Amino acid sequence: RSKARRARKETSTATLDDVAGIESAKREIAEIIDFLKSPEKYRALGAVMPKGVLLVGPPGTGKTLLARAIAGEAEVPFYSISASEFIEMFVGVGAARVRDMFQEARKDAPALTFIDELDAIGRSRGAGLGGGHDEREQTLNQILTEMDGFEAHENVLVLAATNRPDVLDSALLRPGRFDRKITLDRPHKEARTAILQVHVRKVPLAEDVNLEQLAARTIGFSGADLKNLVNEAALTAARENLHEVTAHCFELARDRIILGEERDAHLTP
Ligand code: ATP
Repeated sequence: RSKARRARKETSTATLDDVAGIESAKREIAEIIDFLKSPEKYRALGAVMPKGVLLVGPPGTGKTLLARAIAGEAEVPFYSISASEFIEMFVGVGAARVRDMFQEARKDAPALTFIDELDAIGRSRGAGLGGGHDEREQTLNQILTEMDGFEAHENVLVLAATNRPDVLDSALLRPGRFDRKITLDRPHKEARTAILQVHVRKVPLAEDVNLEQLAARTIGFSGADLKNLVNEAALTAARENLHEVTAHCFELARDRIILGEERDAHLTP
């Protein structure tokens, strides 16, 4: 039996308040949410909504979180699969999983489906790593078939995440498929401050903690890194039996994360 998961269905409780520093994409995101909430409004106006939206950005910039938040805000079911799971799988498994997911989502519409790491299967066909990619190609073809096979009025929206939009098969980007794109960049200073604010919501901070200063000192950190930073700082405080997380805890946590990354960089050629 295959170990690949079927699509996971969840009721997302994430909201846009959980995703910080994405002001540039807010309008587009608001439109997608509105469409999922009241598709009939768009249909009455003869407006055709996108079927597929690509979330593009480096690792840890909140693509998965944003997809969940969109489902949470629109109060629609969230179906997800990770494309990387289908690599090295028996031929046909990935395609079957994709077919199943869309079948379920259509029954549940309006619904949001999310394909993580789309580039794992969505690479340009015929290019790349040499032969033996039947599975990858079949899975990709199934995604294309599904997207072509349903009408916009079926109210299933497909979000897909990638950090390599450059390698995607151009067939995926054609009109009627992933023809919209939301880019999530590595956060600049203000965005880092906002992301830190999200993650310290439940953390008792000492008076000497200055999040803006911390943001200034964490250049290059992604949202995921910042979340990790807050958690490491809280763990440090616990280790020292403090009742609040101090600026010193954040300093130690920051050094540990940066040193850890440097060590990893040396280990991986
Ligand atoms: P990957 O490409 O590695 O899958 P991703 O872009 O999907 O990463 P997420 O998995 O959504 O990133 O991010 C991991 C975690 O980092 C999130 O669950 C969240 O806690 C935190 N995070 C990332 N970006 C943000 C953000 N913009 N605002 C708040 N939290 C964030």
